[in-house]
Amino acid sequence: KPITTDMKTLTQEIEKFAEDKKIEIDTLKIREEYRKDFLGNVSHELKTPLFTVQGYILTLLDGAMNDKKIREKYLTRANKGVERLIYIVRDLDLITKLEVGGLKLDRSNFDIIELVQNVFDLLEMKATENDITLTFDMEYPNPIYVNADREKIQQVISNLLVNSIKYGHPKGTTEVSVEDLIKNKVIVRVTDNGEGIPKQHISRLFERFYRVDQSGSRTQGGSGLGLSIVKHIIEAHDEKIYVESEEDVGSEFSFTLEKTANKLE
Ligand code: ADP
Repeated sequence: KPITTDMKTLTQEIEKFAEDKKIEIDTLKIREEYRKDFLGNVSHELKTPLFTVQGYILTLLDGAMNDKKIREKYLTRANKGVERLIYIVRDLDLITKLEVGGLKLDRSNFDIIELVQNVFDLLEMKATENDITLTFDMEYPNPIYVNADREKIQQVISNLLVNSIKYGHPKGTTEVSVEDLIKNKVIVRVTDNGEGIPKQHISRLFERFYRVDQSGSRTQGGSGLGLSIVKHIIEAHDEKIYVESEEDVGSEFSFTLEKTANKLE
């Protein structure tokens, strides 16, 4: 269903919805606020890359098209802008499902070591392009089976690794480790020696659209939704996510998962 942007129609829609479903209007007021806020953020997030892409197209139409080199350069940049839009829309779709619809987990038993290795292989090129070395510190070479939603945990590891690459210093390193804890838990840690996060921002990092550098100048490529997606997924598993960070020293994000004795348990 398309998003309603007209506030009058939206309010009418919500009131009718309340009547049909016999839901307390107060709850709906909160939801309405939430939707307004969300829509405001969405249009803001989409505007910047859209104007950037339009800028390149207009320059091309203005004559830059005649020079092969310039044409290629501008088309490549326009394409980067479109790629960014695609990522934002994909994350928006996911966060809407997570926040509005609740999250259904598709749990299975799988080897967390193998999953980390998969994400590594997918991101190695991106890391190299950003001059970051990825390392995987495996305490045990053997499989460690966990019970979780494999695809969603892949997304979590991927979001954390992408961030450590984006906010890493050139020639920096990112290390992932999987540690077998006492009782039935493992902890996955993603540690970088990048730009770190100033103290006053740490408690708000997991809010949707929250960024340390709100201007977006250092955060290009993201939607500001990555960490809120991570938090939703981990909490849906009844697990915890932790962050420790120091400005100009680095950051460590970690989360726990439930271990199972073997693949078939
Ligand atoms: P974004 O799309 O902006 O990366 P996220 O929700 O993934 O959105 O992260 C929110 C903000 O947290 C980022 O904009 C960045 O300021 C900060 N951040 C996240 N991960 C790191 C990290 N590894 N090092 C430094 N800052 C980080």
